[in-house]
Formats: sequence, C-alpha cells, structure tokens
Amino acid sequence: MRRLAGAAGLKDAVVINTCAVTNEAVRTARQNIRRAKRTRPGARIIVTGCAAQTTPDDFASMAEVDAVIGNQEKLTPREWRALAEDPALEENAAPIIRVNDIMSVRETAGHLIDGYGDHARAFLQIQNGCDHRCTFCIIPFGRGNSRSVPVRVAVEQARRLAEAGHHEIVLTGVDMTSYGADLDDAPTLGVLVAAILDQVPEICRLRLSSVDGAEIDDELFERITGDNRVAPYLHLSLQSGDNMILKRMKRRHTREQAIELCHTIRARRADVAFGADIIAGFPTETEEMFVRSLDIIDEAGLQYLHVFPFSPRQGTPAALMPQVPRVIIKERAARLRAKAADALHGFLDQLVGREELAIMESGGRARLGNFASVKVINSETASIGGACQLRLTAREGDLLIGEAI
Ligand code: SF4
Repeated sequence: MRRLAGAAGLKDAVVINTCAVTNEAVRTARQNIRRAKRTRPGARIIVTGCAAQTTPDDFASMAEVDAVIGNQEKLTPREWRALAEDPALEENAAPIIRVNDIMSVRETAGHLIDGYGDHARAFLQIQNGCDHRCTFCIIPFGRGNSRSVPVRVAVEQARRLAEAGHHEIVLTGVDMTSYGADLDDAPTLGVLVAAILDQVPEICRLRLSSVDGAEIDDELFERITGDNRVAPYLHLSLQSGDNMILKRMKRRHTREQAIELCHTIRARRADVAFGADIIAGFPTETEEMFVRSLDIIDEAGLQYLHVFPFSPRQGTPAALMPQVPRVIIKERAARLRAKAADALHGFLDQLVGREELAIMESGGRARLGNFASVKVINSETASIGGACQLRLTAREGDLLIGEAI
C-alpha cells in the first residue's frame, strides 16, 4: 500500500489498515485513527482493511477520516491513482468511500504475491479469503471467498525471497489449508509446500502460519513430519475443546480429532510444538464445556495459546445466541492464559541446556524452529536474518536465554 500510494503521487497521508476480528480490534483501530489525526493534523487519513470493508459507514462518519477504501481496492494501483486525483480528498469534503462487494472478487490472488520481510523472516501470502462460515467469525465478510496464488507464481516468489537472503519464509493466508481449491488441477497446500521445498533448496526454514487441522492433506502431513526444513511448529485453529461448542461454532473437527492429530504428528516427529487459538466463553458455554477447553491444553500437548475472550460480532450467528456474562468470559480467559503460561514455561524449561539452530531477529532476539523466542546475550556476533547456532542457558518468563556459539 505504501508503494502504491507513493506511485500514485499521494502525499502527506496516513493509511490505517484495520482489523475486524474482535470488537477490541475495531476499538483499537478507531483509537489509532484519532491518534493519527492528533499527531499529524495536516495529513489525509485513509482507512482500509477488514473493519473498513465490513462497516465502511462507521469509519466514514468519524470526523478524522478523509477516505475509506476496501480490501480489494487497497491493492489496486488504479484505485490509489483515482484517490490521489480526487479533488474531494483535498477539499475537506465528505469522506470518499470506495468499497466494493468483496464477495464478488473471484480472480486468483496473483496480486498478493508481493512477499515482504521484516529482515529475519519473509512473509509470503499464498491465499486470501474463506469459504467457511464459522458462526463467530466476521472475516469472510472482510476478505471475501477463498482465492489462491498459483503454485508456479508462489514458487517463483519464494525463490526471489530466498535469493534476497531471507533464511525463513512464512506462508500465510486466511484459511491456508483450503489452498488451491479454486485453481486449475486443485493443488493442495501439501503440493505447494513440496514444490517450494523441492524447487527452492536455498530456503533454510519454511514455516506455516495457522492451519485447520481438519484439512491437512497427506502430502502436507508427510512434509511436516518428514522434512526438517519445515519448521517444527504448527498453529492450529482449534477454538474450543468441547464438541458441542465446536458444532455450534460450525467448526469441522472434533476434540478427539484435534488431540489425535497432535499425537500422530508428534509420534512421527517428536520436536514439533503446537499452538492454538481458543475462544473463552463462546455463547452457551457451561463450566463443564469450558473445562474441556482447559484440559485439551494438556491432552493435545499445546505449548502456545492465543486466548480470545468471546465478543459478539454484529452480523454473525453467534451474536444472536445466548451469551455468557462478561465477567465469566474474562475469568475463563484468565484461567486459560494461566494454564497456557504453565504449559509454555514447562516446554521452554525442557529446552534449557540444548543447542539449537535459530534465525536472528532484531532487538537481540532469535527464533527457534519450534517458535521459542530467545534473548541472545552476544547478539552482536550474529547478523539479523542469519541462521546461527545457540546454546540455551536459562529461561526468563516467556523467553529463553541463549548465546551464539
Ligand atoms: S475458517 Fe477461519 S476465517 Fe473462515 S470463517 Fe472459520 S474462523 Fe473465520
């Protein structure tokens, strides 16, 4: 967006890319908009992203906002040119709104392939949108239906990123495991991962962002468990440990399947760590049901948990279901987080004393394949983005302490 806005000749503008996933994310977006106007009073404020896509009028009605553009428009040079040339942007007129019906976007997502890096890691978006309709989720209404980047294009981009010196490439998408269904020959995510690994041998580590356990294909399973260049870390879109709640969420897995998946993968590759998203206090969740979410941390052997206190998103079926009181939701989220912290600390403690390969990040930190973050005491000896061997000497909170050897 920075590049497109610059190329269109847009000057003195702040672009705010909003998230719609929770009410809290939307609140933060509104706060950021107000702050941007306070700190850059002369700048045009342009709002985009999923919250802008789903509720454009809410943002257009903010006094600070000059333009609202949709998720497809934000990736189109033509739209940025039109915006830059629109006299209304300069005249402090009513906000410009350019937001299309995202559900009408059908083309494969070749335009997403502009992978980028944060020095250490490069992110490669291979898929966008989602065809599922989980009852709590607003994302499909912000991102539209599933579109995938063709294998050939993704492999080429991975090669460019590897040649640019990125040791680790992270594949990203909204619903990654549905990759390819919209493409000719319907290649699976496993086919794509295999193609990248085989055709770009320079990649030191390939990491998958969140995956849906119900949709891991055979080839993907083989690569995760049998190819050491796939990072030994899987983040599962789990959401609950109770089957009735999973059904009410319209998820496609059961508690038993999720546990079995973790065990099967670990049996084949013992060093794989698991993360998961879990929602606390989904509508109708009883204490008994919640305890099943708590217990799945140990039963599946999860190390990294993202806990989301449930907040109803307007327009989703879950917003109309019988709600759990806020105070109970907060209490359950706190219990999940406390248990998750214990699980993570236990896992990190087991790593102390070992030597591990890591990729250096900024700020003296490094990341292991299993996602553990390490404070490197002699970080000046390693270059950011480079691979280095670390001796892990201690744990401090959620961090390991290590030295480059
Ligand atoms: S699969 Fe993920 S993105 Fe799609 S509707 Fe469900 S939670 Fe939302």
